[in-house]
Amino acid sequence: MKKYNFSAGPAILPAEVMKEAGAACVNFNNSGFSILEISHRSADFSAVLAEAEALVREIGGIGEEFAVLFLSGGASSQFFMAPMNLLDDSGKAVYVDTGSWAAKAVKESKAFGPTEVLASSKADNYTHIPKGYTIPADATYLHLTSNNTIFGTQLAEYPETDVPLVVDMSSDMFSRPFPVDRFGIIYAGAQKNLGPAGVTLVIVRKDLLGKVDRHIPTMLNYNTHIEKGSTFNTPPVFPIYVMMLTLRWVKAQGGLEAVAKNNEEKAAVLYKEIDENPMFAGTVTQKEDRSLMNVTFVMADEYKELEGQFLEACKAAGCMSVKGHRSVGGFRASIYNAMPKEGIETLVKVMQDFRAAHA
Ligand SMILES: *Cc1c(COP(=O)(O)O)cnc(C)c1O
Repeated sequence: MKKYNFSAGPAILPAEVMKEAGAACVNFNNSGFSILEISHRSADFSAVLAEAEALVREIGGIGEEFAVLFLSGGASSQFFMAPMNLLDDSGKAVYVDTGSWAAKAVKESKAFGPTEVLASSKADNYTHIPKGYTIPADATYLHLTSNNTIFGTQLAEYPETDVPLVVDMSSDMFSRPFPVDRFGIIYAGAQKNLGPAGVTLVIVRKDLLGKVDRHIPTMLNYNTHIEKGSTFNTPPVFPIYVMMLTLRWVKAQGGLEAVAKNNEEKAAVLYKEIDENPMFAGTVTQKEDRSLMNVTFVMADEYKELEGQFLEACKAAGCMSVKGHRSVGGFRASIYNAMPKEGIETLVKVMQDFRAAHA
C-alpha cells in the first residue's frame, strides 16, 4: 500500500529527490565517493552550493542586495541571530504574535533591545491571525511568522510597509510567491518544505547589517557567513545537497506561481471536505487565515469519542501522522509542496468513508 506522510516536519519530500539523494550517498557525481564523505571545499560541493544559491535567487527573484546563506542551528537560532545582528538599544523591534514559534522569537529579541508585540491572538489559542494593528514607522524591523505550523494559520498577504520585514517562513518557504522588496530577512528551517533537517536557509538584505553597537560572536554574525560564502566552518553538506535537489524540483514544477496554484487546489479539496462533512470542524476561526500547508481540524463535538478510531482509519489507508499537535488536539494534515494530490484524495476518502460508517 502506498503511504502518505502528513507529518509537520521533518516532512515529505518529492520521491524523485529522495531517490537521487539515496544514489548520491553511494556514488556522488560518478566520483566514486559518497556525498557524505566529500570535502565541503571540493569542486563537487562548491558546485552544489553555487547551484543551490542560484536556484534560490532564480525561484524567489532574489537580487544581489540580498545574501543567500545556508546555516545550521535551525530556525530557532534565527530567533536570536536576527535581533543580535539588527537590533540594539537605539532601535525597536516589533512583532506579531501568531503562534508558539512567534512567541519564542519575541522572547529572544527582548535580550537584544526594545521589543514590542503589536498584536497577538494568544488569548484565542492562536485560532486566527490578528489584523488591524499599526506598524510604527520608526521600527527597526517587523517580525512575522508567515505560516503557523502548529495552529494551521497563514498570512494571506504581507503588510504594505517600508519597515523591513523579518519573516520566519519555515513552513511555507517557496510554497507561493512573495514580495521580495519588502523583506529584510527571510529564514526557513529546511525540514518543512525545503529538504531534510540540518540546514536553515537565510536570506538577508546586506545593507541592514553592521549597524548595531555590540560584539557579535563570529559564528553568529551574518557577515562572517556572507564573507565566507556559507563555508566559514563545515556547512551541513548533505542537507544542502538535498535542498538543492528539492529546488531543482520546484523549478521543474514551473516555479512559485505553479507551485502556489497546485497548493491552493490541494488545500481547497481538503477544506471542502472538512466544511461539508458533519463529523469534522476546522480549528481556524477566520477562513482567510487558513493555512495551505498545515490543515488543522477536530472531530465535531458529538463525535469526539471517535477521534482515536479516525486516526486508526487514516493509518489503515496509508495516511500517516495525521494526529494534531498537543496544543491544538484533533488532527493536522501537513500538505507541503511535495504532497501529491492523490495523498489528499486518499485522506478525503477516509473522511467520507468514516462519515458513511458513523454519521
Ligand atoms: C519548525 C518551525 C521552527 C523551528 O525550526 P527548527 O529548525 O527546529 O529550529 C520555527 N518556526 C516555524 C514556523 C516552524 O514551523
